Amino acid sequence: MKGKAQLSANALTVLERRYLKKEGGKVIETPEDMFKRVALNISEAEKKYGKNDEEIREIAEKFYELMISLAFLPNSPTLMNAGRELQQLAACFVLPVEDSMESIFETIKNAALIHKSGGGTGFSFSRIRPQKDRVLTTGGVASGPISFMKVFNAATEAVKQGGTRRGANMGILRVDHPDILEFITVKQNNEELTNFNLSVGITEKFMEAVEKDEHYDLINPRNKEKVKSLRAREVFDLIVDSAWKSGEPGIVFLDRINEKNPTPLLGEIESTNPCGEQPLLPYEACNLGSINLAKVVRDGEIDYNYLKDIVHLSVRFLDNVIDMGVYPLKEITEMVHGNRKIGLGVMGFADCLIKLGIPYNSEKGVKVAEQLMEFIQKESKMASEKLAEERGSFPNFHLSIYPDMGYKALRNATTTTIAPTGTISMIAGVSSGIEPIFALCYKRTILDNEELLEVHPLFEEVAKARGFYSEELMEKIAQKGSIQGLKEIPVDVQKIFVTAHDISPQWHVEIQSAFQKYTDNAVSKTVNFPYDATREDVKEVFMLSYKLKCKGVTVYRDGSRDSQVLSKVDNK
Ligand code: ADP
Repeated sequence: MKGKAQLSANALTVLERRYLKKEGGKVIETPEDMFKRVALNISEAEKKYGKNDEEIREIAEKFYELMISLAFLPNSPTLMNAGRELQQLAACFVLPVEDSMESIFETIKNAALIHKSGGGTGFSFSRIRPQKDRVLTTGGVASGPISFMKVFNAATEAVKQGGTRRGANMGILRVDHPDILEFITVKQNNEELTNFNLSVGITEKFMEAVEKDEHYDLINPRNKEKVKSLRAREVFDLIVDSAWKSGEPGIVFLDRINEKNPTPLLGEIESTNPCGEQPLLPYEACNLGSINLAKVVRDGEIDYNYLKDIVHLSVRFLDNVIDMGVYPLKEITEMVHGNRKIGLGVMGFADCLIKLGIPYNSEKGVKVAEQLMEFIQKESKMASEKLAEERGSFPNFHLSIYPDMGYKALRNATTTTIAPTGTISMIAGVSSGIEPIFALCYKRTILDNEELLEVHPLFEEVAKARGFYSEELMEKIAQKGSIQGLKEIPVDVQKIFVTAHDISPQWHVEIQSAFQKYTDNAVSKTVNFPYDATREDVKEVFMLSYKLKCKGVTVYRDGSRDSQVLSKVDNK
C-alpha cells in the first residue's frame, strides 16, 4: 500500500496519544501503519461474501487510499480498535433502562463495558418511576430517575481511568415525566452529571400546548396515571432559562424522530447516542464515518464524480465494519446485524464553503448544504441497494418502511448521520462536522507555557496571496477573535472567513435544517450565542429548530460554563 498521509503536527499529537499502537508506553505504529491495519481488517469482511484473496487485497488498497488521502475517516473506535484485540468499532450505543433494580444495574454494567471499548452510550430514563412513588416489594419510596443517573455518572467516572476514551452518555427524560423539572435544572450545578449530556424528550402534544398556552399532563410511567398537569409555557421557559445559563439541557423531538423510524415494528425510539446525532432502538449500535468536504472542491467547484466514488466506497466500508465489529453483548450483536444501520456524514463543510468562496451565513451557503447532502443521501442509498444485490437486504428489511417506499432491496436501515467529528476532523485537519470555523488565529499552548500562534491554513493562504499577512495582524486577530470590521482586511475576505460567533444563531439553525432534510438519522450541531444573548434569543432558536424540522437542538452561550471548551466532545 502506497502513499503518505499529509498530517499536521496537531493531528500527529492526537494520533500518538490515543490511536497508534503502543508497547510499554512507546508508539510502535506510524499513521500509515494504522491506516493499513484498518484497511486490511475492514476488507476482511469481503471473505464472507465470496471475494477471493486478490479481490480482497484490491479492496483493501482502495480503503487505504480513501483514508490516507483523508477523503474519508471512520469514527474513532474503528481507527483505534480495528485489527487489534478489542475489535469494537462502533461509536454509538443505546441501552434500555427499565423500571427495575435488575435492569438499572445490568445496564450500568453494560455501559461500563461499552465505555471501556471507546463507545458512547445513550439512555432514556423515562420508564423509571418518579421520586416518592411506591416500591411494592419493599414498601419504601422510589428515588426517581435522577438519583439513578448519578449512579450511572459515577460508574462512568470510574471507568474513565482505564479506557481508550473518557466515556460519554446521553440522558433523556420525556417532558411528561413527573420528575421533569428537576431534570431540566440538575446541570445548573456544574458538579452534577459531568459525564452526561442531557436532552428533554419533547412531544408534539407538548409543543401544541406551548403554542396554545395550555396545560399538559405529567404521567407516572409505572401505572400510566396522571400525576398532575403543568403549564407548558412555564416548562418550556424553564428549559430555555437553563440552556441559557449552562447550555443544558438540549431538546430532542421524539415524535419527529419516530416519524422517521425505519423499523417501527421493532419498537419505538426513545434515545439517541451522546452527541444526539444517532437515534437508536434499545440495544442498537451504529458505526459512523465522515467524508471530508474540503477535499471534494477542485478548481473552485465541487467535483461530484469524485464525491460519488467516495460515497460508494465509504458505504461499502461502513457495511463491512458491521461484520468485523465485536459487540460487548449478544443482544447488541443481534440488533446490529438485523438492521445494519450505518451513519455516513461529512466534516470540513465550513472549509469547503471557504474554498468555494461562499459565506456560511448566506442563502447560497444553505443551498450548497442542501445540494451536497441531497447528493450524498441519494448516492448512499444507491450504494446500499447495490450492496443488497450482492449481499442481501438487512434481515429486518421486510419489517421496515422501505418496501412501501418502493425499495426492492436495501442493505442498511439507515445510511446517513452527521457526526460532530470532534477528533477525526482534527486528524484530517479540517473544520468539524458542519460547524463553522471557530477561530482564524489562535494561541495554542505547547509544552508548559510556550505559546504557538496557529493560523487557519486557508486564511493564511489568502492573507499571503492578497498581501495583508503580517505576524502582527495575526496576533491582533487572535486576540479579537474575529476579522469582521478590521480595516486591514478586504471586505470580500471578511464575508467568507466568518467564525462561529460572527454568524447569527438563525443561520446556524438554517444550515442544520438544510442538512437534516437529507439525513436519515440526526445532525450534530451546536448553535453558538454570544455572552450577551438573551433568553428570548435562545427561545427563538428552539422554536425555529422546531419549525424548520430539526430533530433536536443544542445551544451554547459563550462563557456560560466555568470551563470553556471548543466542542462538546472535548468536554467529555
Ligand atoms: P470521533 O471524531 O472521535 O470519531 P465524534 O466527535 O464524531 O467522534 O463523536 C461521535 C460519537 O462518538 C458521539 O456521538 C458518541 O457517541 C461517541 N463519542 C464521542 N466522544 C466520546 C467519548 N469521549 N467517549 C465515548 N464515546 C464518545
